[in-house]
Amino acid sequence: MATYGWIGLGNMGGPMTANLVQAGHTVRGFDLDAGAASAAAAHGVQTVGTIAEAVAGADVVFTMLPKGEHVRAVFGGEDGIWATAEKTTLLADSSTVDIETSQHCHDESAARGFRFVDAPVSGGISGAAAGTLAFMVGGEESAVADASALIEPMAGKVIAAGGPTAGIAAKICNNMMLFIDLMAASEGSQLAEQLGLDPKVFWEIVSVSSGHSWAQQTWYPVPGVVDSAAANRNYDATFRTDLAHKDISLALDAGEKTGVRLEAAQLAHRRFEQLIGEGYADKDCTLIVKYTSPDGGA
Ligand code: NAD
Repeated sequence: MATYGWIGLGNMGGPMTANLVQAGHTVRGFDLDAGAASAAAAHGVQTVGTIAEAVAGADVVFTMLPKGEHVRAVFGGEDGIWATAEKTTLLADSSTVDIETSQHCHDESAARGFRFVDAPVSGGISGAAAGTLAFMVGGEESAVADASALIEPMAGKVIAAGGPTAGIAAKICNNMMLFIDLMAASEGSQLAEQLGLDPKVFWEIVSVSSGHSWAQQTWYPVPGVVDSAAANRNYDATFRTDLAHKDISLALDAGEKTGVRLEAAQLAHRRFEQLIGEGYADKDCTLIVKYTSPDGGA
């Protein structure tokens, strides 16, 4: 059995650590938010008050934080992971961050004598709860292999993506596709409704047809069709709009640097910006459907 240090026990970190505890591992977790920490304690995480306590004696430390700035803050500084962890501890960041932050984590870790992998995930909170997340792992080969074994209780699939930052690069591309698919599911669901189709019947048809996507399957933005959809719960977030906006901004930034034209992604980005401007940053990103509906409501 292994000892995991874990920083960030939110929507994803919570259920991911629950699966580690369930598999018999020791997890020491830290989160700034008392509610997130106590929810994790309820499923068996040993919650602690500092990063240093979370990483002490850990075989591996995972971070599952909102954005690059949080990851840099948690790794760096006097009380951060680099200053307090033992050099033998493997470091893994599962947050979705910009490639520059991930590269910084690789470079600084190597300079300080640590092994680090970027290990972002796909599958949403339902995948996190079920222990079926897809992990895409980037880094030096033996670090990726060691991380993969430690990831296993949380994963349906672990894929070695390539060298440093290959995992995060794959994740940025994947999520751009996800949010474009969400636009498609939003528009398709509303048009189907206006054409008089029963939403459940239409969803069943699409599920076995070429309009099928993960967004359509899991996040279908019409109440009463898919249990996992936030549309059933007043759009309380499973994937917050500000995080969706962050992810698609990462893709647009990468597009700009590489010269790839990302017009569909730009449209999704505009819609998330609109939602945030209207005060919905904390709501689920599937609320994007409100701009598609003819009555403007969701
Ligand atoms: P979240 O906001 O629910 O959780 C993040 C947690 O980090 C919060 O509990 C917050 O209090 C904590 N935190 C922030 N700064 C901290 C610090 N300095 N020290 C300790 N704790 C700190 O976000 P989430 O939905 O769990 O997402 C986490 C990451 O995973 C993001 O990068 C997101 O883009 C990515 N992701 C999310 C999903 C999803 O479906 N929600 C799916 C795949 C990947």
